[in-house]
Amino acid sequence: MGTQAIKIIKTDVEQLITLLNKAFADEWLAYYQYWMGAKVIDGPMRNVVITELIQHATDELRHSDMLANKIIQLGGTPILEPKEWYEMTNCGYSAPKDFYVEKILNQNIKGEQCAIEVYNKIVNLTKDKDIETYNMVTQILRDEVEHEDDLQKLLEDLHIMLKR
Ligand code: FE
Ligand code: FE
Ligand code: MG
Repeated sequence: MGTQAIKIIKTDVEQLITLLNKAFADEWLAYYQYWMGAKVIDGPMRNVVITELIQHATDELRHSDMLANKIIQLGGTPILEPKEWYEMTNCGYSAPKDFYVEKILNQNIKGEQCAIEVYNKIVNLTKDKDIETYNMVTQILRDEVEHEDDLQKLLEDLHIMLKR
């Protein structure tokens, strides 16, 4: 990023890079959790849920791409070692050890709820301070809000179906 572009940022750039790297770790772990969940999932409504999980995995990978570009633009370095994902993550990784559809959905709903909190914080931190990063994290937050909603609706559908 050019010197003037960095100068107009009215927040601590090093701190911002760290927050973006922590979110970057979350996105890779979320990607893998969705991707693996879609492989191993079992139970009713499996096919419709798999389609959603794969869509979300694709979104999380795109988020990690956006974050890596932004970190580099700010003069930082994205996490180079996957083992550091575990040290940096906010939301952690829940291995899909129970393959039942309801368990997989709940696991990923928890992840989205954590992501919403994380991005809401970065949105508030960058508001009126770094318009470009603010716009980017607002876009990501919008996706995470949609993800939570999609999964909760699938869970409701599953419960309705099982009661009939
Ligand atoms: Fe994401
Ligand atoms: Fe998400
Ligand atoms: Mg969706």
